[in-house]
Amino acid sequence: MNWYKQSQSEIDLGDEEPEWSYPGAEHDYNPYWSYVYDKKVEQKVKDFVEGYVNELKRDLFPQVGFLEDMKVAFVKLPRNAIAMYIDGTEPYIVIAIDISRIKRIVKKMNDLNYLEDHIKVTIVHELAHAIQQGVDIEYNEKEAESFARTYVDYGDIDRFWDEREPRNELV
Ligand SMILES: [Zn+2]
Repeated sequence: MNWYKQSQSEIDLGDEEPEWSYPGAEHDYNPYWSYVYDKKVEQKVKDFVEGYVNELKRDLFPQVGFLEDMKVAFVKLPRNAIAMYIDGTEPYIVIAIDISRIKRIVKKMNDLNYLEDHIKVTIVHELAHAIQQGVDIEYNEKEAESFARTYVDYGDIDRFWDEREPRNELV
């Protein structure tokens, strides 16, 4: 048997989760410990997400100030969740996203063209939860969603954390 052909066919199986590495991160969390890799996500969607994450790191991170890095994992999530900020990972943020579920929601809303917009809002929403944890305030859905819409729609940063009291403030 030709070993080259054999290794090519192994590569083509493509069913296994991708390698996970996070250079520089202070934690060793791997999202594939907890969630199943969604192998159905197309390369063009992955490329879009990667490009958007780089955009956020370039444009948004410096304005927040304390975020170091962000990585997104393409997984299947339980309980109808479309995405999750992995608790405790900031400032080396890990976000798990369920693209197949977002696609189903977008389809249901009959606006397939807005898939990219939904993905953007979803990622920035989860990023807001990382910010909430980073400044030690409670997770707040309304704040996270408003932060995401304001940023994605207008490019503005709603600095909600400036007005909130830290949850463990010692007097
Ligand atoms: Zn949320």
